[in-house]
Amino acid sequence: MTVYLDHAASTPVDPRVAAVMAESLARGDANPSATHGAGRAARAQVETARAEIAALVGAQPGEIIFTSGATEADNLALFGLMRAVPARGRHLVVSRIEHRAVLDVAGRLEVEGCAVSYVPSGREGLVPLSAVDAALRADTRLLSVMLVNNETGVIQDVGGIAALCRSRDALVHTDAAQALGHIRMDLPSLGVDLASLSAHKMGGPPGIGALWVGARAAPLLEPMLYGGGQERGLRPGTLPVHQIIGFGEACRLARLAESTDAAHYQALTHALASHLLALPGVRRNGTAQACAPHLLNLSFSGVDGEALHASLIGLAVSGGSACGAARGEPSYVLRALGLDDTAAEASVRFSVGRQTTLKEIEIAAKIVENAYLRLLELAPS
Ligand SMILES: *Cc1c(COP(=O)(O)O)cnc(C)c1O
Repeated sequence: MTVYLDHAASTPVDPRVAAVMAESLARGDANPSATHGAGRAARAQVETARAEIAALVGAQPGEIIFTSGATEADNLALFGLMRAVPARGRHLVVSRIEHRAVLDVAGRLEVEGCAVSYVPSGREGLVPLSAVDAALRADTRLLSVMLVNNETGVIQDVGGIAALCRSRDALVHTDAAQALGHIRMDLPSLGVDLASLSAHKMGGPPGIGALWVGARAAPLLEPMLYGGGQERGLRPGTLPVHQIIGFGEACRLARLAESTDAAHYQALTHALASHLLALPGVRRNGTAQACAPHLLNLSFSGVDGEALHASLIGLAVSGGSACGAARGEPSYVLRALGLDDTAAEASVRFSVGRQTTLKEIEIAAKIVENAYLRLLELAPS
């Protein structure tokens, strides 16, 4: 049996979410754009789900644009705003610790002639306000900074960054995929203009997410796709009703269990951290002072990262992010925090979920401890 501690890559679908999705499929929900009774019934289901998602982030339902996930939401936010104006005089600011779905879009926009500035991270995993201040220019159109980093769990000062951007007339996008369902979020009071959300990081199904579009960004955003005009013309295509129902249910459950979920995640990661940080040579990556409760990232010094990961048998964890692993390179996020390649490779990201038990955490801690201590003994000193 494997202990699954890779919820930041994807959470299992909550059984209650799976149940309402199966009901939708069995019912054969119609196209919600159709004007007949079956279409209107499907539309009602979609709008109920939209309201649940909006309620979890303090938004208005009409501001939620369904996408295939946070990747597409990130693409829509950045391309949709930056391509709407001529290349000359377009400036974008992103942090160096963003998800690939933001960084790779920024790279593409550079190829298209857009100016991009990359803001560094401090050693604690926080993007400093002073660095944001230094990067902003008179022609900055948009800044993108994530709310919760997917590798370290560090919660960025998005409110402070947004206030700074607002005073300089720049719009702000935040990738909130790891924040949704894990930390309390009120997007309007955070001061951002756009936010990316994903269902499969919080008990919902993969393949569905949303872009929250606030009032300042709405008139400026252009679609990437053209078609049937769905989602206020910003994201055409027939709405996947069962996916949306699942996302809505996951948000409803997260809102109902907000405090118990957070306390549960905190107890689990705290127990794991206490056990492993007591070992010699183990360090935490990213500050514990501002960290989402479900994530813990540790470095194990004196051992080879590849050997360490290979010996974590019976444990599903990740090195950097799942996407980074596919590329087979050390985590650029940990490198941005000042770790060298060796330390970045000998790092483990643990992420817990609603179904994780304290018993599983004890098993996991033992697996890691035994593997690490054995490798330390073998290592030349
Ligand atoms: C998982 C993740 C994404 C990608 O979300 P998908 O819904 O899988 O496209 C983007 N950003 C962050 C921070 C993530 O953790």
